[in-house]
Amino acid sequence: MGDQLRTTLEITVTGQVQGIGFRPYIYRLAKRLGIRGTVTNTRAGVTILAQGRGANRLLAHLQKHPPRLALISEIRVRTVRKPPCSGFDIIPSPTSPAKPGVEVLPDLATCSACRRELTDPHNRRYLYPFINCTQCGPRYTIILQLPYDRERTTMRKFRMCEECQKEYLSPANRRFHAEPIACPRCGPAVQLLNKKGRPISCDPIDKAARLILGGKILAVKGLGGFHLCCDARNDLAVRRLRRLKGRDQKPFALMVESLTAVRNICHLPAGAGRLLRSPAAPIVLLPKRKPAKARLAPLIAPHNPAYGILLPYTPLHLLIFKSLKKYQVKPPVLIMTSANVSDEPIAASEEELFNRSGLFDYVLTHNREIANRCDDSVIQAETANAIMVRRSRGYTPRPLHLSRVFHVKHPTLAVGADSKNCFALAAGGRVFAGPHIGELETAAAERFFLAALQRLTDWTGIKPARVVCDLHPDYSSVRLAETLSRKFQLPLKRVQHHYAHILSVMAEHGLRGPVLGLAADGTGYGLDRAIWGCEFLLINPDRTWKRLGHLAYLRHGASAGYLADPVQVAVSYLLQSGIEPGALRRLGLPVSAAYAPAPVITSSLGRLFDAVAAITGVCRRATFEGEPAIALENEALSAGTASELKLAEVELLSTDEEMLLLDPRPLIRTVFQLICSRVPAGKVSLWFHQTLVGAFHQALIRLAELNQINTICLSGGSFQNRLLRLELVRRLRGSGFRVYHNQEFPLNDGGIALGQAVALD
Ligand SMILES: [Zn+2]
Ligand SMILES: [Zn+2]
Repeated sequence: MGDQLRTTLEITVTGQVQGIGFRPYIYRLAKRLGIRGTVTNTRAGVTILAQGRGANRLLAHLQKHPPRLALISEIRVRTVRKPPCSGFDIIPSPTSPAKPGVEVLPDLATCSACRRELTDPHNRRYLYPFINCTQCGPRYTIILQLPYDRERTTMRKFRMCEECQKEYLSPANRRFHAEPIACPRCGPAVQLLNKKGRPISCDPIDKAARLILGGKILAVKGLGGFHLCCDARNDLAVRRLRRLKGRDQKPFALMVESLTAVRNICHLPAGAGRLLRSPAAPIVLLPKRKPAKARLAPLIAPHNPAYGILLPYTPLHLLIFKSLKKYQVKPPVLIMTSANVSDEPIAASEEELFNRSGLFDYVLTHNREIANRCDDSVIQAETANAIMVRRSRGYTPRPLHLSRVFHVKHPTLAVGADSKNCFALAAGGRVFAGPHIGELETAAAERFFLAALQRLTDWTGIKPARVVCDLHPDYSSVRLAETLSRKFQLPLKRVQHHYAHILSVMAEHGLRGPVLGLAADGTGYGLDRAIWGCEFLLINPDRTWKRLGHLAYLRHGASAGYLADPVQVAVSYLLQSGIEPGALRRLGLPVSAAYAPAPVITSSLGRLFDAVAAITGVCRRATFEGEPAIALENEALSAGTASELKLAEVELLSTDEEMLLLDPRPLIRTVFQLICSRVPAGKVSLWFHQTLVGAFHQALIRLAELNQINTICLSGGSFQNRLLRLELVRRLRGSGFRVYHNQEFPLNDGGIALGQAVALD
């Protein structure tokens, strides 16, 4: 009966197209254009069959005006012959796995329509902490399997009530096929537990608000894990939280209700407000307002120029703020920090949480399970130019689309670095980065890594044909990569750390090369087995590379923990710079440290910052990675100017067997002399930053001329320092260079996996 078949347009859309109201959008469009056919979610994305004269108009409209949250990577169209359809229908997803291509959506902050309903006494979801729709709510963190349908999420245990079902099935409704749809009658519920896990009968959110204002520490279940929450104005509570978490100085993030409340404590540069209110709702690092309009506990972010701020992104957060305001006139400011001890993964289940009891007084939890652990993301937006610091909730698992030259021939698992770990899966033109894992050395972190990897390989269908890791012989990530490569019999490729940093910039911006790269950070294993950390590299279009220069090597002592000891580094560096051991006493530095062995050979910029922070007295004990450098930057920012110092310029650059060397010793000597002659630490810090930028600028000009290169890439954690990054970029652009650094991916070690993924065999 072939003549009964109709000419049909088959439109296959790939990209971020599921879970965002794509099918209802097509449904409504089809109805309007009088088109018959179907729309369905598949493992490849969304497939539309369109019959009728308006079929091409539907296609044109889709291309021109895609749905708000869609990120379409490709639309494929072909003409097929199908039996006639009587109307336009949304048909259920087939369960059989097909081609990968669909992109799982990241979690989305509560949308404005849901916010209105949440506070509307006439709405049936009035004050319901799990209100959501196709435009907002949990996604990545509740998905167990694809295709994205309720029965493959952690919402499967909640049976929809009649009213929810009606909304779910009506194509014109905002909740049409909103998979996590719920209401007070049928959905999850909030509960308050004491620290032993026993339920407390009360109005849980109202009681939680009163406990917070009473100085208690609460664990609050969020999208990707539990937060520890307390009143940021309460000095004692903040101190206690620091003690319980084993976190001495590392900043805590703050949640406030609105942009107005943000402005009370921070400056809001152009674009930062939009970021804070974006569906990803990241923590945004903003410059502290001095003096602040709100008095906060001093221990929130000590010796740090910025606060990490986020806005409420779940209905539960919104309701906590609503309750707090019943009891307090001042705008509430809450600490919201991951529920974990020091650097372990964030707790994502009640069981994990109660294994860490002693961290909190009460727990505000609920019965919607977290399928995928995911920390808050962090973005630095102290200027209009924002950079990613931690890419996780709200972004995971959205892929990066590579330009053609960077397409990955063999599907690749890149395991990333040990610190700020984040892995990546790459195939063809896409790189999927996993969630922020953090420090990889604990068994818990490794389990988190493997679980997240399993999910992402299942969803993307990427079966790695090779594994890429770092060059370091003692890295946990390398051992993990070796195990995986043995287990699945995959070739293992080892990629030098700083080379991976610069490759990540090239991949992000589609730079074919040749480029001149400057990668600066704390630690990376070098080809000569020294610890590299301030490297001038040349990368060619065929991705071969060469080290052109570096910070000249100095030695320092090995430290007990994974953090270097700034005092020990300072003493070693001072002695190697020609300062007499006896002179150390003038700055209160221990002479005894002068006789400690110094087995580590390094060109690390991080260690140079450590040394200068200790010599200036700005920071003599590091409790987290990068702390001395942040403190030094903070001090320099408060100095205003250092121009009155009028120091003779010293030549820091020299060449040794074609290797450009930047000698740090004159810097160290000058810093020492300035501090001894009682120049304020802020001025010395500023002078140090400026001199370093000047030397980098000169070195890059020299290498660029020598190698005839006009494109410069900057990467590595040291460039999170704004004084360093902004001033160097400004001067390089002033000299006519094209300058790039990471933006969508972290320029710290969280971005290493991206560089590893595009390294060639
Ligand atoms: Zn919504
Ligand atoms: Zn319901």
